[in-house]
Amino acid sequence: MNTKEKDLKYIMHTYGRYDVALQKGKGAVAFDEDGKRYIDVSSGIGVNSLGYCDEGWAKAVADQANTIQHMSNYFYSAQASDLAEKLCTLTGLAKVCFGNSGAEANECAIKLARKYSFDKYGNGRNEIITLENSFHGRTVTTLSATGQEVFHNFFFPFTHGFGFVPANDFSALENAVCDKTCAVMIEVVQGEGGVNILDKSYVQAISELCKSRDILLIVDEVQTGAGRTGKLFGYEHYGILPDIVTAAKGLGGGLPIGVCMCGEKLKDVMSPSTHGTTFGANPVVCAGANYVLDKISDEKFLASVEEKGTYLEKKLMELDDVKNVRRLGLMVGIEIDGDAHDLAIKCVENGLLIITAKDVLRMLPPLTITAAELDEAVSILDKVLKENR
Ligand SMILES: *Cc1c(COP(=O)(O)O)cnc(C)c1O
Repeated sequence: MNTKEKDLKYIMHTYGRYDVALQKGKGAVAFDEDGKRYIDVSSGIGVNSLGYCDEGWAKAVADQANTIQHMSNYFYSAQASDLAEKLCTLTGLAKVCFGNSGAEANECAIKLARKYSFDKYGNGRNEIITLENSFHGRTVTTLSATGQEVFHNFFFPFTHGFGFVPANDFSALENAVCDKTCAVMIEVVQGEGGVNILDKSYVQAISELCKSRDILLIVDEVQTGAGRTGKLFGYEHYGILPDIVTAAKGLGGGLPIGVCMCGEKLKDVMSPSTHGTTFGANPVVCAGANYVLDKISDEKFLASVEEKGTYLEKKLMELDDVKNVRRLGLMVGIEIDGDAHDLAIKCVENGLLIITAKDVLRMLPPLTITAAELDEAVSILDKVLKENR
């Protein structure tokens, strides 16, 4: 059996896969098992932030694997405490909790918000408002937090205590807030929901409202974090500091990590045994993340992300078949006529690894992609769009 046949026989069919078995990569270029070359503007859904097999990252990870590959959370770990210090210093937040994925980071955020409210106000003030078209993960509770009806099926009963309001409509949110509200949870750019960018005034108004009523503002930066938008975290574009920030995808550079970070007033809410995970803060993962964070937190690096994004947007807008581009940094949604999924499949056949979000084509290229590689990606897309007129 080849890779595809084995996959179909032995792996639960929870993904619609492209018809490609990737074998290796370097930077923004990947090769499949037949040696075919691809430009990758998906980077494993925004995970390979430094591209495939960045030398420094691979060395940091390999060195750590050869030193101590895992220890339980009953011991102190330099890699984890260094990473936590960096995250807090860079953001102005106070403490972090480590996990292994975006969904887990959001679970931690939800538990943290509810416990803060429980400790201070007692039982009953536990509702969290999230936005329509949001995406917060695949566990039962983070599915419950996700404001898309399609996700609220099969797995009943879902976790109670989530309400949804349309994005960029402040009065809808104001009306939804009540005595039971403990938190508001947003993505500043909805990734899975279609690359929808929240308005600055809207996010600032939410932040003010939350502050005035001791409601916690949770910003899910699982996709927007780690330099993706040209700032270390997306919320920085909005001039706010959330109470809780979660990050995952691009932070590990390709290894599984999730972090839930909180500000001063929440730093002592979680006490021993209120939360934990066996693999969280794994030193190999943290070594990779330390390397990524050192690299991407550099102002010049972040400026280059925005420059590349501006360049890419300009190139895309020059294509006749591109209707509009929704973009923050290198988080890009491309509005086109026609079925985004079908077009993405054609792009892949033509050597461009691209993904979709709702009805847009989505690009989340490695932050290290070169201008020449962006040119190549755009020209493949141009060809595919023209063939589909
Ligand atoms: C991908 C994503 C998640 C879920 O992350 P996993 O690592 O797949 O659990 C949560 N929130 C947002 C905004 C995401 O993009």
